[in-house]
Amino acid sequence: MSPSDSKTFLITGVSSGFGRAFARAALEAGHTVVGTVRGEETRAAFEALEPRRARALVLDVTDFDAIGPAVARVEREVGALDVLVNNAGYGHEGPLEETSLEDMRRQFDVNVFGAVAMIKAVLPAMRQRRAGHIVNVTSMGGFITMPGISSYCGSKFALEGISEVLAKEVKGFGIRVTALAPGSFRTDWAGRSMIRAPRRIPDYDALFEPIRKAREEKSGQQAGDPAKAARALLKLVAAENPPVHLLLGRDALKLVREKLQALSEEISAWEDVTRSTDFD
Ligand code: NAP
Repeated sequence: MSPSDSKTFLITGVSSGFGRAFARAALEAGHTVVGTVRGEETRAAFEALEPRRARALVLDVTDFDAIGPAVARVEREVGALDVLVNNAGYGHEGPLEETSLEDMRRQFDVNVFGAVAMIKAVLPAMRQRRAGHIVNVTSMGGFITMPGISSYCGSKFALEGISEVLAKEVKGFGIRVTALAPGSFRTDWAGRSMIRAPRRIPDYDALFEPIRKAREEKSGQQAGDPAKAARALLKLVAAENPPVHLLLGRDALKLVREKLQALSEEISAWEDVTRSTDFD
């Protein structure tokens, strides 16, 4: 790669899963990566990946007041940021009635407001430079839904919508925005990272327990390969005209297509009612 093709990435959540795979691939391609971690041990492990171009930043994305100064320091010490990847996030599982408001707020704090705070921190410099790419890792759960993950899907639908609006707002400044929506990938998402609401209402057992069991059994066996997702990310950021939405994985493709088809059929089935509400 020529030095002019080399980019500086800021990736949140590089301790495992997608974040680690994205960082590894970007480093291998010759880019510089600043990655956020939440502990000293993970900081050292990350920086050991590449002694000069891997830099760890200890930051919890819900520490909103710390984000602006942390990003400003990165820009001063490492240089202008070309790509922000809002990857940090987790899944919360539990029927809505069993989910505390506090747990749902926490899900949105990490998956939505953490990403928004990061975006707000990088935008002024990107806008000034008339360049940059913001990649928000959403999920196929930002399009499709299933019982037991209302907090997660709600947060990912929100991030999809925010990304789409932002893409329209900053396009004129030369800043690109992509919502990257993976299907099921082999990461720590359904394992150590998932928060599971304590079960207390037996009425939901028949619907929810098989879903919970299937997710537990599938953890570690998912079809999606994070290293291949990382190759897709590098292709995305190198593209002249990157898409605003990009799905990753055959499961995402199938399920999202089915969802869009079903949505279109439902809109048509109720079209007369929809049309009936305007003033004469
Ligand atoms: P993962 O292996 O569990 O990685 C999650 C990363 O996010 C970890 O580095 C974790 O750091 C970090 N993180 C969590 N909360 C954080 C916070 N408050 N502040 C800073 N960092 C935080 O799972 P993953 O699958 O790679 O998840 C990455 C993203 O992909 C998430 O947004 C997830 O929703 C999305 N996603 C995953 C899948 C899938 O099937 N795997 C599918 C669609 C979307 P710690 O190590 O400190 O906890």
